[in-house]
Amino acid sequence: MYLSREDLAKYPFCREAKEYISSLGFTIDEVFNPDFSIILDRVFERIEGAVRIGRVETRLIDLDLEILSFNIAPIILSIIGDNALSMRYAVAEAKRVYEELRVDDDYKLQLISVNSFNWRVRFLRPGAFQIFFADFLQFSPAFEAFNWKLVNRSVIGGWVYVSRGELARLISERVKNEIFSKSSQPMPSITLPSNVMDRIEGLRKIFSSYRRVVESEEVKGPMIESAMPPCIRSLMNGLLKGESMPHMARFTLATFLLNAGRSVDDVVKLFTASADYDEKMTRYQVEHIAGLRGSRTKYSTPKCSTLKTFGLCFPDDFCVLKKVKHPMTYYKLKVKSSGGGVGKGGSN
Ligand code: SF4
Repeated sequence: MYLSREDLAKYPFCREAKEYISSLGFTIDEVFNPDFSIILDRVFERIEGAVRIGRVETRLIDLDLEILSFNIAPIILSIIGDNALSMRYAVAEAKRVYEELRVDDDYKLQLISVNSFNWRVRFLRPGAFQIFFADFLQFSPAFEAFNWKLVNRSVIGGWVYVSRGELARLISERVKNEIFSKSSQPMPSITLPSNVMDRIEGLRKIFSSYRRVVESEEVKGPMIESAMPPCIRSLMNGLLKGESMPHMARFTLATFLLNAGRSVDDVVKLFTASADYDEKMTRYQVEHIAGLRGSRTKYSTPKCSTLKTFGLCFPDDFCVLKKVKHPMTYYKLKVKSSGGGVGKGGSN
C-alpha cells in the first residue's frame, strides 16, 4: 500500500510529497525564475480561488504543478502578511482535502495519518478506524459538537473509534493549521521581481475588495448587529474565522438570522466562510429552515436551555439580569432598549 503521484497531487501536504519535492532539487529562488512562471500562475490561481469563492479545485493534469504550487502558496502568503487572507486560504485548502479524503480509499487515510502526522491510527473495517486518544485530542477540541467531546466517544484501552468522515475532518483540520502557521511565519527579506510584486499587489486588492463586500453585507437589512446575543455573536465570529461548525451551531445561527430578518441569500452567503461549505447543500438546508421546502415550517431558534446543553451558551450580564430564556427574546429586548424596531421576521 502506497500513495501514487496522483495521490501526492491531491494530498501535497503529506510526507511523501515533501520528499518528492526534495528529490526534484527545487529551490526557492527558482520559484521566481520567469522560466517557472507556470508554477506561480497556479499558486496565484489557488489563492484567488480561495478568496473569490472559498474553494480550491484539485487539478490532476500536471501533477508536479499541483504538488509544488500547494507548497509554495504559503511562501507567497507570508510575503503578503495578511492573517485573514492566510486563514481564508487555509480553510479553502482544508475543505478540498476533506472532500477528497472522505471518498478515498481507507488505507490512504491511515497512511497519511501515520506517516505524515505520526498519529496512531488502526484500520478496523471499511469506513471505520481507531485513533489513540492523545492524537484525537490534538484537533478534536476545534469542533464544538457534542459528539467530538472525548467523554461522549466510545474509547477502549485509550483508542477512540472514528468513522472515515471523522478521520478526514481531523486530517483536514491538521492541514488547515499547518498551512496557516506556515503562511504566518515572517519571511526573510528577499527582493522580488517587479512582475511578482505586481501580482501580489493585485491579490491584495482582490482580497480587500472581497472584505469590503462581506463587511457591507453584514450591516445591510433590518437586522441590528449590536443587539445580537453573545451566543449568536460567538457563532458568527467562529464562522467568519472559518472554524468548523457542528450541525447544532449551524442550525442555531441560520434560524436566528432568518428570524431576525436576514434573507436566505444573505445566510447562504455568510456560510461560504464555513470550513466544509457546500453551496447546494447549504442552500437546501437554509431554505428548509426558512420554511421554503419540505414541511413548509419555518423553524424557531433553539431555547437557551437547549443551547446550554450543547455548550453554545456564553451568557453576558444582560442575559443574567433579564433572565433571558430565548436568544430571540434577548435580541428583541436589546432592540427595544436601543429605541429600534424588530425586523418583520422576528417572530420567535
Ligand atoms: S443565555 Fe440565552 S441568549 Fe444568553 S448567551 Fe445563553 S443562549 Fe444566548
